[in-house]
Amino acid sequence: MKIANLDGRAVVITPDGVIDVAAASGGRFPASPDACVAHVAQIRDWLATDQPAKDPTVTLATLEADAARLGPPVTAPSQIFAIGLNYRDHSTETGLALPDEPLVFTKFPSSLAGPTADIPLPTPTCDWEVELVVVIAEGGRDIPADKALDHVAGFCVGQDISERTGQMAGRPPQFSLAKSHPAFAPIGPWITTPDELDDPADLTLTCTLDGDIVQQGRTRDLIFDVPTLISHLSRVCELRPADLIFTGTPSGVGYARTPARYLTPGSTLRSAITGLGELRNRCTSTGRGSAP
Ligand code: ZN
Repeated sequence: MKIANLDGRAVVITPDGVIDVAAASGGRFPASPDACVAHVAQIRDWLATDQPAKDPTVTLATLEADAARLGPPVTAPSQIFAIGLNYRDHSTETGLALPDEPLVFTKFPSSLAGPTADIPLPTPTCDWEVELVVVIAEGGRDIPADKALDHVAGFCVGQDISERTGQMAGRPPQFSLAKSHPAFAPIGPWITTPDELDDPADLTLTCTLDGDIVQQGRTRDLIFDVPTLISHLSRVCELRPADLIFTGTPSGVGYARTPARYLTPGSTLRSAITGLGELRNRCTSTGRGSAP
């Protein structure tokens, strides 16, 4: 099942039409995309049982071609976790040692944006990081790894846009603010439930900048896989419905290149994961000059 935020309302997307979850269920399910995430299993059962009518004017194909009506499939999670250095080849390119346990930071929720949102660049040193994003359905504490996937609503594509000057400036450096500028966390285009994927543990991620493939990786190469991350995080923080986990990026980021390459106003970033869809984001100027 693919569940999306269409004009601010939760919809299920199918090849032959969309279903407004709240309207078609007579209010049994909420209209809020965030609230629906906790109910994905029940929504799937309802679809199979009731077979509600679809709006055939909006289909999977029309939304793939024109995703501008889609907002982020989760808009205001209580927590966004992000994991640094979670692919061996990315750790190598940064020159940093492999972490012994997940390296966790946050992207503040106000940085979320939709799958075709423009990304204003606050400095000339903004970088790309395509990532698999996990969406939590049922929360909890102390979730064991072998039960972790039971807590997952689905997956989507994410970009962990990173302003490298601010990220590296401190001693020690701190990541969260420099990764939380407006629209620095585009996600989408929708949430895909795990049952739609042949192997949720082996998905191919691709990031393309102005037609150049700059990143290509596979989630089977994650150092800490999704169950391990959920178990690790929930030992400290209670996970809540609609929480997001950015799971880390493979190699090919701009600042590790020689010479370094960064996003520029006018450039187009395409971020895709097999089975999950694609983000298409255009970079713009902030219109207020470089950040201090
Ligand atoms: Zn990242």
